[in-house]
Amino acid sequence: MKTEMIHPQLIDSHCHLPLIKLEGGLEAILKNAQKEGIGHILCVSVDLETWPEINEIANKYDNVYGSVGVHPNTELETEITVKELIQLAENNPGIIAIGETGLDYYRNSDDLAWQKERFIKHIQAARAVNKPLIIHTREAGEDTVRLLRENKADEVSGVMHCFVDDYEIAKKALDLGFYISFSGIVTFKNAKQVQEVAKRVPLDRILVETDSPYLAPVPFRGKTNQPAYVRHVAEFVSNLRGIPMENLIAATTDNFFRLFQHAIP
Ligand SMILES: [Zn+2]
Ligand SMILES: [Zn+2]
Repeated sequence: MKTEMIHPQLIDSHCHLPLIKLEGGLEAILKNAQKEGIGHILCVSVDLETWPEINEIANKYDNVYGSVGVHPNTELETEITVKELIQLAENNPGIIAIGETGLDYYRNSDDLAWQKERFIKHIQAARAVNKPLIIHTREAGEDTVRLLRENKADEVSGVMHCFVDDYEIAKKALDLGFYISFSGIVTFKNAKQVQEVAKRVPLDRILVETDSPYLAPVPFRGKTNQPAYVRHVAEFVSNLRGIPMENLIAATTDNFFRLFQHAIP
């Protein structure tokens, strides 16, 4: 008889597997995650060049899901169409979300009409295929939640990924039925605002993520991030909220499956 405890499984709700460069490659990354009790991984699309790789990984591994979308900072020669997004999202069972999409006023500061148009196309596609949205927003919180509301994104809901805005923006996203996901940033010493929000978001709306290979949590800050490290994000948030780690794990995992239940075949 096995006597070892079965640990509840954590989920990394946002990472970029094709971009993580570690010795041993994908197999090693997935093995490390498994050792840390990471049950499922959502691998998020940023462009159409690396997307086929995401689709392949999502089809190959039962515990890896994928999304389709073009990041607001990705430069395209030809803009993506709603039809294209729908087609890629519909015909591939491993693809459970649309994104990452949204607005980024930090890295792009020219005329941003194209960014808004691209964002709206992703919302339209998500509604057409009934899959949740993965939202990236940077220095654009107000416009992001406004476009979500105006374009009826509440019909499909989604994740505000790597959340760094204040609670007012979080509240507006929560009111639209969205979930708030925290990355390694929450573990950074100077991230007081993020920590404040991580304490206040209702437990049934929180997710955790790595956004790997970026933003490794303390104590790996500055190193290459990987899904296994989501445990450190979760531990930090459970300490912040003063709740046992197993409660935080159970809540974030339940939240993930509640959000994506319609999209997971
Ligand atoms: Zn992002
Ligand atoms: Zn990302």
